[in-house]
Amino acid sequence: MNILYDPDSHLGLHNFGIEIPLTDQRTNNVMEFLQRQEIPLNKVRSRPDYRLMTKEDIALAHSHDFTNRLFGTEDEKAAEIIKAFELKNPDGSYHRYNPANASLPLAKLVEQALLQTSGTLAAGKVALEQGESFFLGGGFHHAMTFEGRGFCVLNDIVIAARYLQRNHAVKNIWVIDIDVHKGDGTAQITQNDPSISTFSIHMADGWPLDDGGSTEAQDEKPWWIPSTIDVPVAQGESQLYLQKLKDGLTKLADLDRPDLAFVIQGSDPYVLDSLPSSQSIQLNLEQMIERDFLVYNLLKELQVPHCHLMAGGYGPHSHEPFNSFFGRLKELNTFSRRHS
Ligand SMILES: [Zn+2]
Repeated sequence: MNILYDPDSHLGLHNFGIEIPLTDQRTNNVMEFLQRQEIPLNKVRSRPDYRLMTKEDIALAHSHDFTNRLFGTEDEKAAEIIKAFELKNPDGSYHRYNPANASLPLAKLVEQALLQTSGTLAAGKVALEQGESFFLGGGFHHAMTFEGRGFCVLNDIVIAARYLQRNHAVKNIWVIDIDVHKGDGTAQITQNDPSISTFSIHMADGWPLDDGGSTEAQDEKPWWIPSTIDVPVAQGESQLYLQKLKDGLTKLADLDRPDLAFVIQGSDPYVLDSLPSSQSIQLNLEQMIERDFLVYNLLKELQVPHCHLMAGGYGPHSHEPFNSFFGRLKELNTFSRRHS
């Protein structure tokens, strides 16, 4: 496993006056653990083909209008950030946002989203070259073709996937989303794209509401657009989670073997996650590790190159599932020597 990071891609939401508990402390805690364990870490920017994402790259997944606004004036960028992070209430008052505490303009968060996407792309290339990679960032699965949503400005997953299809002879791609929230943006963007198959196991009852694949009113409720395989887990069903995941992965394995898989490895199903809206699935640490290795082992068995992304995970314990995953991988001796 090759673990990659970009110290400049941190979102640093508090610098923008945003009060959402998605802190950089999670990544810092994981990095400290890796250093203590002497697990090598590589910088994405040390790759000779490191690429800052361009407007053309972003348009691989996003609409012309949305792409233009993200590359538009400072006000247009700030308006998109307000939407993506839901910083305004319907009455116009601020929500989890206090501009008085900001030291940086909101528009700069667009740059951070572009850096995160560059990291995901670099990690995708490493997975193709070396078989497996993990980017300490990325996984912004709620961003839709037409706007950012749910703390996600850009859908780095689909942008990277389509970039690799266009430039690196990759044909079919799987996106395996085990974050506690549905990968609704990824499903929406790829709904008419048979080259990208999406799998999502998520809360049946929490945000974004999933009606199990209704075809009605999809224009108004794009989060209802089904993934290729959806595995909703209802409140109180946490003990069935691993069996449902196994059954879902069995269905996935019946599809044609892809050339690459992205794993959206959110740590928010963890029982100690602090986001109030993610409480309807609560897995303990052992169950989290089993979750991660059900996916990891399947991809190893099928010999599919795989790139893991961090996605969601909130509060002071959100690094723990990642540390356990890397600790277990170290026991399995999967880390190659530092190359940068
Ligand atoms: Zn999530």
